[in-house]
Amino acid sequence: MPLTASGAERAGIYVCGITPYDATHLGHAATYIAFDLLIRAWLDAGIDVTYASNVTDVDDPLLERATATGQDWRALAASQIALFAEDMTALGVIPPQVYLGAVETVPQVSAVVHDLVIRGLAYRVPLPPGAGGDRPDLGDVYADLGSDRDFGLVSHLTAGTMTDLFAARGGDPDRPGKRHPLDPLLWRRERPGEPAWDGGELGTGRPGWHIECAVIARAGLGAAFDVQGGGHDLLFPHHEMSTAHSRVIDDADGIGHGPGARHHVHAGLVGYHGAKMSKSLGNLVLVSNLRMQGADPAAIRLAVLAHHYRQDWEWHDADLDDAEDRLDRWRMAVSGYGGADPADVLDELRRALADDLDAPRALRAVDAWAERTLSAAAEGAAQVEGAAGVVSRAVNALLGLRL
Ligand code: ZN
Repeated sequence: MPLTASGAERAGIYVCGITPYDATHLGHAATYIAFDLLIRAWLDAGIDVTYASNVTDVDDPLLERATATGQDWRALAASQIALFAEDMTALGVIPPQVYLGAVETVPQVSAVVHDLVIRGLAYRVPLPPGAGGDRPDLGDVYADLGSDRDFGLVSHLTAGTMTDLFAARGGDPDRPGKRHPLDPLLWRRERPGEPAWDGGELGTGRPGWHIECAVIARAGLGAAFDVQGGGHDLLFPHHEMSTAHSRVIDDADGIGHGPGARHHVHAGLVGYHGAKMSKSLGNLVLVSNLRMQGADPAAIRLAVLAHHYRQDWEWHDADLDDAEDRLDRWRMAVSGYGGADPADVLDELRRALADDLDAPRALRAVDAWAERTLSAAAEGAAQVEGAAGVVSRAVNALLGLRL
């Protein structure tokens, strides 16, 4: 990691944000809690962290949902952005210092896309009839992946898998006029009934998703940064494409390593009732619903932390009861002044997080301290003065749990 002027290390992390058309489900929560752990471990190590994120406040799924439910898309986005922020605050997730939306970054994105067209790294595809407002001659703009010899180095997937995932995750491999089936959309021209913004010489339209993240990450963190994070389903095409865009934005030749994230980190997906939690299956467990039903947000966070971030796992309703029991034991253990020696638990917490954010191991360390403390109290044995406060503050700072 680079050094600051004062000699301290600094780190930049970008975590892909939500498209605000459905409230935070446990899969989202698990992703943001995972990267929150990383940020907390960095801060604990004295690293100067910059955290940037986005909100895709205009995109096809949002517009489709608004149409389906008869809402104004802006009102839907605003309400879901607010609910997401409430959920994250309740879960103890440290907010990003840089938080930008797709709509407010249209000027930057359109300037970048126009530059790529001029440099021959992007091209226009003719519009279907009726599209393009008063300039139907200006086509949609796609990135030319053929100019990027490093394409594929993020996901390391085979061509066939890439094509399958691209089609399954919002891509348009069969669109006539594209140079390569995988070339991603950079600028979607105005369509009847869809919102559109002035794109200067690109014509009216709106940004593609991958270029949105590339531009916002660059705005918040500079051309090169340490980590781009998200759920595992963002590996391809989203992180592959946004990194390809980062490379060409800052490289006049359109090739070469350097710009973009140095590491890509992905959180596992969360299932429920035997299937991946998804809107289409209707099996979302929403954080806001759990909160409305009276769940302690700290218990929701603790239930998530009981799973290693990289693994896929399944939510069971009893997970919340188990987490509430665990939280009760911990709270009982820190309710006094003294306790078992806190030095060991603090060391073990730091070691666990340094070992690929092994949260389940960190929780076991706190469990062991709580058991030692509670049994010593029951036996009337001597305790270390102030131990409860040390452990309580460590759990708060490192695990984001208020005891
Ligand atoms: Zn993203």
